[in-house]
Amino acid sequence: MLGVEVLEETFGLRPVAASPLGGEVDQNLAVDLDNGSRVVVKISPPGADATELRWRHGLMELAGQAGALDPVSVPKLFAARTGETLLEVGQGRLMTVQSWLPGRTLSELSHHSPQLLGELGRTAARMVRALAPAPVAATTHHWDLLRAPESIAAGIDAVDDRDQHEQVRRILAWYAEALGLHLGSLPMAVVHHDLNDFNVLARRAPDGRHHVHAVLDFADALHSTRVSELAVAVAYAMLRKKNPLTAATAVVRGYAEELELTDAELAVLYPLAAARLCVNAVTWTTRGGTYGHDRMEHTWPTIARLAKTPPQLAELLFREAAGASIAPALPVLGLGARSTVSDAEVGGHLEVVTGSRRSTVSGETATQRLGVEITAEESFKVVAPYAGVVEENAGFLVLRHEGSLWSRWTGLTSSLAAGSYVAAGEVLGEAAAVRVAIFRSLDAALVVDQASVPPSEAAAWAIVSPDPQEFLGLGVRRVEGEWSAEQVLATRSRRFARSQRSYYDQPMNLVSGRGSWLFDEFGRGYLDAINNVSHVGHANPRVVAAATAQLQRLNTNSRFLYPGIAQYAERLTSLLPDPLEVVFLVCSGSEANDLAIRIARQVTGRSDVLVIDGAYHGNTSVITGLSPNRYKGPGGTGPDPTTHEVEQPDQYRGRYGYDDVDAGPKYAADVQRQIDRLNGLGRPPAAFIAESAQGTAGSIFYPDGYLENAFASVRAAGGLCISDEVQVGFGRFGDVFWGFQSQGVVPDIVTMGKPIGNGHPMAAVVTTREIADAFDTGMKYFNTFGGNPVSCAIGTAVLDEIAAENLQQHAETTGRELKRRLEELAGRHELIGDVRGHGMYLGLELVRDRATKEPAVQEALLVSELMKDEGVIVYPTGGNTLKIKPPLTFTADDAELFTSVLDEVLTRDW
Ligand code: PMP
Repeated sequence: MLGVEVLEETFGLRPVAASPLGGEVDQNLAVDLDNGSRVVVKISPPGADATELRWRHGLMELAGQAGALDPVSVPKLFAARTGETLLEVGQGRLMTVQSWLPGRTLSELSHHSPQLLGELGRTAARMVRALAPAPVAATTHHWDLLRAPESIAAGIDAVDDRDQHEQVRRILAWYAEALGLHLGSLPMAVVHHDLNDFNVLARRAPDGRHHVHAVLDFADALHSTRVSELAVAVAYAMLRKKNPLTAATAVVRGYAEELELTDAELAVLYPLAAARLCVNAVTWTTRGGTYGHDRMEHTWPTIARLAKTPPQLAELLFREAAGASIAPALPVLGLGARSTVSDAEVGGHLEVVTGSRRSTVSGETATQRLGVEITAEESFKVVAPYAGVVEENAGFLVLRHEGSLWSRWTGLTSSLAAGSYVAAGEVLGEAAAVRVAIFRSLDAALVVDQASVPPSEAAAWAIVSPDPQEFLGLGVRRVEGEWSAEQVLATRSRRFARSQRSYYDQPMNLVSGRGSWLFDEFGRGYLDAINNVSHVGHANPRVVAAATAQLQRLNTNSRFLYPGIAQYAERLTSLLPDPLEVVFLVCSGSEANDLAIRIARQVTGRSDVLVIDGAYHGNTSVITGLSPNRYKGPGGTGPDPTTHEVEQPDQYRGRYGYDDVDAGPKYAADVQRQIDRLNGLGRPPAAFIAESAQGTAGSIFYPDGYLENAFASVRAAGGLCISDEVQVGFGRFGDVFWGFQSQGVVPDIVTMGKPIGNGHPMAAVVTTREIADAFDTGMKYFNTFGGNPVSCAIGTAVLDEIAAENLQQHAETTGRELKRRLEELAGRHELIGDVRGHGMYLGLELVRDRATKEPAVQEALLVSELMKDEGVIVYPTGGNTLKIKPPLTFTADDAELFTSVLDEVLTRDW
């Protein structure tokens, strides 16, 4: 092959194999050398300009200098024996040899995280800075962004599709307008000018994420506008994205962290980037061939999308990302607009839909409605709230109003002709449903066709297309004084101890919930797969009504008599097997466990307590010392002297696996061993405390016979058995109401919390009459808030709701469906090591290797972060296990959405 044979003689490199690489102009070869390394040999076509090539080599050297793009590198040039990096290889062809850089091109990755896109932007900025000392060369070529109209004109005739023509025309009009205004004030620079997704390599780092690590191919380097460097990167970053602007904004943010963007640069960036994609699409349509086809696959759909994205919006988003000021969303016109639709017209059945309901598809979902929708049962007349001139009446009606404001009315039957003047109060037309949006540019009023937008773009959209409610005389929707996520986070870190952590790198700011869904301040919906506390659903109407009614009537403490507490105690104990009949109402799961331990110690006159390894039982001093999950974890100071661990009955990782039918009794044997040891020390145990399935330890479910044998040993030693039902009680297991029933046991003391009050702080301890009596030594037990009338009303409403909605049964059927789907995923994703669960309490254990079971801790966190970005809430527990314990209102559809998003995230390259 040309080039290979001269390698040894001229460069002193010994090739052992060569294979061709793609390339637009040069002939490129990957050559393996005898020393195990690899180089790229590039051979120019005949007649290449050596001066220009040398200039590019100079740029590569600048970009390759230590620290220039750090930690990103560029290929190193090999010097021939003569010291030259450029070699004439006949027929005017020039050869260069460069180092091979490993990694995957951005085009090969199925997903680009905001962090990766930020790194791309940062790389663009560093490239500009690295190339600053380069001499200016007067070179230009087809891809020069400043020649986009020319390059497009040369090939547009090959594009057959009329829509595509129109899209390109519109983008070129934006380009012409922006450059016409700003070209003179754009800073110029020597730029790489081709940070496209084939030229940027990423590599997965030990943190489990892909990071930019190399930039290739200086063949398109130019002296051009400085912002062209960023524009090319932005253009390609928008390909294959559901929300191209969100991706573009992430790149801009990264760039702006390194280098300032001027107002002029921010104004031209989007038209330049969009035009670059047009050049691309038109050129490759003209040239055909597989090389171009690969690049084209995602280009036209992105162009179609961009042609409906007004440049003002992009500019606002970019300005925000670059830290430049954006005009505040001014109130629209003054007050005093006439009501667009009078109640009399529609008999009072008017419904105005604003805001959003929920996400239904993956990706950052467009949940913010643009404009409002007004519907009624019968057709109604619509009147103009303000005077205006009709700009367009085809498909929709667009009116121009004073103050650079356009209103667009969709769904209206109207005979108004373009150019007509409409006075305020005049009838615009008739409709049974009309969508009204207002815009600050005619362009936007004509091209925007989205009914909703993603939350991350909401602030910019609010400027381009403000909320029309005031305009329509409907009042203003925005809730004043709502804090942003940034404000909440900053205040949290100032006002709370660091040990009180929050979930997620970039937490959402939750403002409401309903059923299995949570909503942030932008109205974006998140499917909640972990809040078992909201057992009967967020903001459950029955619970809200009960709490509100009781708060309005009476709230006091349990030293007084009131009916609710007695009724609730009856209801709760009726759900428990004999002889569990005496109730203590307290305020938290920790407090319940603390009291249970206190009772056990007092009643038995002993101090030592057996706990299962890995367990978490709560946050009080005593309970922290009984929670291996804390005292053995970070910052832990070890067990209390009276705490004794028994082996964790973990069939996935432990000594006895799923295939061992005797695993239950075998694990329980360790309980007997510890008792024997304690007896030997003359310290028999007061109690054995066990969750009915372990929660925080990583969703561990016990093999059959475990608790049965363990309880038998404890009782034989005179100890009490405490079941911690804080996580799993109240029907979550589906087939049984209490977790301990799944193990065929009845404890001496049972503790409950979390779901008992659906989020209201209440908890309970229930025990036998005999134990309760033995606890009465004359010392009073009083709890100010435990069992107050409001808590009892809420507790009763929760039990009513479980019964009325058949939630226990629902937990069984939906839980089974969810588990089936997860098992199906495990068949396709190696990362899933184990799927386990009971009813609507599931765990998905992630491992790096199914054979070694190396815990995939970082991956579990990353999956959770990515799921959050997709609008699904799940989180690791026990390090590498995803806990899945949604409100029992979780539907089969929710299960489907959950698993499809998980599937999609697991399929990605992170
Ligand atoms: N027991 C178990 C099994 C728990 O998971 C928890 C809380 N995670 C507690 C007790 C403590 O409950 P609380 O946070 O209400 O004090």
